[in-house]
Amino acid sequence: MTRLSIDGGDPVRERPLPYGRQFLSEEDIAVVVEALRSDWLTTGPSVDSFEKAFAESAGSREAVAVASGTAALHAATFALRIKPGDEVIVPAMTFAASANCVVFQGGTPVFADVDPGSLLIGPGEIAARVTPRTRAIIAVDYAGQPCDYDTLLATASELDLPVIADAAHSMGGRYKGRRVGSLADLNTFSLHPVKHITTGEGGVITTDDPEQARRMRTFRNHGFNVDHHTRDKQGSWFYEMTDLGYNYRLTDFQCALGTSQLRTLSERVARRQAIALRYDESLADMPAVTRLELSDDASHARHIYVILLNLERLKVDRAAVFAALRAEGIGVSVHYIPVHLHPFYRRRFGVRAGLCPVAEAAYERMLTLPMFPQMSDADADDVITALERVLGVYQN
Ligand SMILES: *Cc1c(COP(=O)(O)O)cnc(C)c1O
Repeated sequence: MTRLSIDGGDPVRERPLPYGRQFLSEEDIAVVVEALRSDWLTTGPSVDSFEKAFAESAGSREAVAVASGTAALHAATFALRIKPGDEVIVPAMTFAASANCVVFQGGTPVFADVDPGSLLIGPGEIAARVTPRTRAIIAVDYAGQPCDYDTLLATASELDLPVIADAAHSMGGRYKGRRVGSLADLNTFSLHPVKHITTGEGGVITTDDPEQARRMRTFRNHGFNVDHHTRDKQGSWFYEMTDLGYNYRLTDFQCALGTSQLRTLSERVARRQAIALRYDESLADMPAVTRLELSDDASHARHIYVILLNLERLKVDRAAVFAALRAEGIGVSVHYIPVHLHPFYRRRFGVRAGLCPVAEAAYERMLTLPMFPQMSDADADDVITALERVLGVYQN
């Protein structure tokens, strides 16, 4: 029988494969260098051109560039005027920032459970969590698969609630042919290195509402009604602080990088989809693995490839499979610990395990496999080989 690397055998890979990695071309680097030599390091012409290119790519009227995906979510809850006493429905299976953005505004995130097949927020769950204090819904396109927006928006409109789409995973995806970024009232993106395109740190909000875009541009710049670039052009010193804002600006050279990265978005997504298809096919005959369900309505942007272990077929738990795969040189990860289980949320809002049983059960058995555009087919095959080897030894 094979000896696993964790038990002293040879690993599948000598050089570990990370779960995600950025890709910058020589052209991307040249564009940043050029921007660094220009007159503008922050808030200059590259911000406008990035926002225009992003809006065009997302199929929205407006795009607002900010310092991170988290700042984008915060700008969105600000734009919706979330305030103390307000509740916002958020799926439990997401990155903490999807819920933190409600708390930044003094509001209360109300955690909704997810569909067991797709791990996306279920419209039925939303109806169950609505109260007279509900002010908005945050939908998360978990793993890169757009939510069922027709049902979601119909539910939201019946309840007269706006929807924020946290589209950090789904940039470049589509729902019934409509582009991610044009689906909800406000759509937020992250430009962190593991995401589809990167500016180091960065984020974007898209909307068709110019007034909301204006409010968010004010919010990212201390709440000032004009930025220094515009003021300079107008030859005026005057500005007023009309709201409490932050310094959530994205620098000019980051925006230059963003515009350059955006040019290859569709190739990047296509490459992720090809790797995912390779995984889909190999995993179809692994009895200890369940794949997430895919909707026919969606073009999945494949940010992360999540599998669910069928623990009843294994002698060990997820932690042991995780450790064994890491020892084989496979950079597996876990997305995510359900947000309501974090100590902060338990302490501040008194939420407990049992609130979202589907998300909690999925968390116990999930693993994220490596996936990024520069990964080769041979890399993907190493992941499959390691999974076959580890699950073969641990099956009961
Ligand atoms: C990455 C991510 C964010 C936060 O983005 P940052 O740019 O890291 O602040 C928010 N929501 C989800 C679902 C994410 O994956």
